[in-house]
Amino acid sequence: MSRYKINEVFESIQGEGAHTGVPSIFIRTQGCPVGCAWCDTKQTWTEDTIFRTSVADVMNKSEPDERWFEASAEQLLTLIRKQNYVANHIILTGGEPCLFDLTAVSSLFIDNGFSVSIETSGTFEIVTHPDTWVTLSPKVKMKGGFAVLDSALARANEIKHPVATEAHIDDLKQLLDRGQHAEETLIYLQPISQQARATQLAVDTCIKENWRLSLQTHKFIGIE
Ligand code: SF4
Repeated sequence: MSRYKINEVFESIQGEGAHTGVPSIFIRTQGCPVGCAWCDTKQTWTEDTIFRTSVADVMNKSEPDERWFEASAEQLLTLIRKQNYVANHIILTGGEPCLFDLTAVSSLFIDNGFSVSIETSGTFEIVTHPDTWVTLSPKVKMKGGFAVLDSALARANEIKHPVATEAHIDDLKQLLDRGQHAEETLIYLQPISQQARATQLAVDTCIKENWRLSLQTHKFIGIE
């Protein structure tokens, strides 16, 4: 039976990419070895069991921190039912959710009437229900030394590329030049940390390439 390490479960509005504005239940997995310098969820990196705790502890966090609990797909479904959330879209994010085989949890949620998406760096095999929406946010040349997999590019429904400099645009073009992604895959540029220069670069490039712009709208309105 698959067990998942979970850092956070909360309901909010998706602020990025193709599902922007959709009320969603976020399930944040624990563990990520990718090592992005600008990562805004560094509390998910460690898998040290010293931080393992109860569901109640994690659900009562007032600020994000390293504590996590372990649960099966069934226990996660019971938990979100108990929270009385109203959203019927579930986002498995991280951390790096593809450290786990997501088949059991995504299948259970889909069988119970939820739509499911995952957000991944593309550096681990994506193993999930075929109806899962896959948001690939490729992490290229990061400290952990992992490569973006061809299979992740092929599976992506949207590729949402973080961008601050021209070099990041070149990285994306190199990924697309591999020819693995489907014709209908949506391509987004997302400025890193809402920097003005990054945003202008993303806007100019989206117009030039006929790509889409993704802004982290949740950060503009001060929600998680
Ligand atoms: Fe952070 Fe995501 Fe990069 Fe992992 S892949 S270090 S969670 S931004």
